[in-house]
Amino acid sequence: MARDPNPTVLSDELEKCRADVRLAKTLLSPDWIICLECGRLLGRISAQHLRRHDLTQALYKEKWGYNLGSGLASQSLSKVRAVVARKMRLARVGRRNLRPFARKHAGYVHRREGNLNNASLHAGKPKPGNRKLIDGRSVSDLEIAEARLQGDALDSIAARTGLSATAILFRLRRLKFPCHTGRRPAFEHGAPMTGQAIADLLEGSNVTALGLTRRMGLSPSALYPHLRRPGKTLPFDLARAIKRQRRSLVRRAPSDRGGRPTVLLPADLRTLRAKYQALHEDLALVRRWVSERDCRIKSAELHEWICSQTRTGKIRTLLFWPEFFQWCRKVSPSREFLGSWRPQEIAFDFLADDYGVKRRAISKAVFGS
Ligand SMILES: [Zn+2]
Repeated sequence: MARDPNPTVLSDELEKCRADVRLAKTLLSPDWIICLECGRLLGRISAQHLRRHDLTQALYKEKWGYNLGSGLASQSLSKVRAVVARKMRLARVGRRNLRPFARKHAGYVHRREGNLNNASLHAGKPKPGNRKLIDGRSVSDLEIAEARLQGDALDSIAARTGLSATAILFRLRRLKFPCHTGRRPAFEHGAPMTGQAIADLLEGSNVTALGLTRRMGLSPSALYPHLRRPGKTLPFDLARAIKRQRRSLVRRAPSDRGGRPTVLLPADLRTLRAKYQALHEDLALVRRWVSERDCRIKSAELHEWICSQTRTGKIRTLLFWPEFFQWCRKVSPSREFLGSWRPQEIAFDFLADDYGVKRRAISKAVFGS
């Protein structure tokens, strides 16, 4: 039915609407809203229209008893507008997802495993650091750290644990692994082996770089890139080979000049004091924790605790010293720890074992006497 350009409702219809203002949107069809002042049928009651009744939209709503939040538009028009608004909102979100916030931006949220695990947050439980797998199991830090210390690649840890390689990478980063890039590090004396280890070996033994490559059966230029960048982590297999060379080079027979070569390299003597201090601090923390627990502690429990403390940055070196736990097992086969030991003695004993020298050599390097 064609309506005239200024359709109005009949006066009794208008009275009905004024008595129950909800009818103004539903009386004839959802396409119209009735102006309660003049009875005209409109798509929406605009501010412009209300000006001829000397009203604003707020005053109109107040006069006729509408909620201030309710819209002055017909039902079908409101529906169309809601769809358009939703589309615009989605478009805005979509754009943001395509181009993530820059770091340090107000809206930037570091996306971590833990952020995704919202279910326990809503249950009022403290949020776990580690995401659960689909089967409800969660992978402990210990599992990942141990595999990495043994020199496993990210992909193989991922395959074994069921997490993605990226998740493993981020977990290692949060565990403050000194080398958390794709390259798997070999650890020695509580730190990843870098090109510096080769330089130290050459300095402490009378072998040239060329001689060393010949001993190891490598091409003559194989070691130069690592010597040029001493801060970079060595490839895992090369690092292991260097370790073996070092063991055979520093335990050589007496040279023809008569002096038996020292077992500690000059570089070891320079760094031993710092290593001892870091180890001593960590061990003091361990002892305090063990003695507070006041019971026997399984080594797995201890290792787990060390992981969590490394996460918070309190323990700095112990996690990256895999030999320490092997040594503990050797010394205490029951794999249990009590709080009745002195960190200094343990540190000396362990360092002597780790460097393969006498305790006196360690204490001489640390205290200089
Ligand atoms: Zn009107």
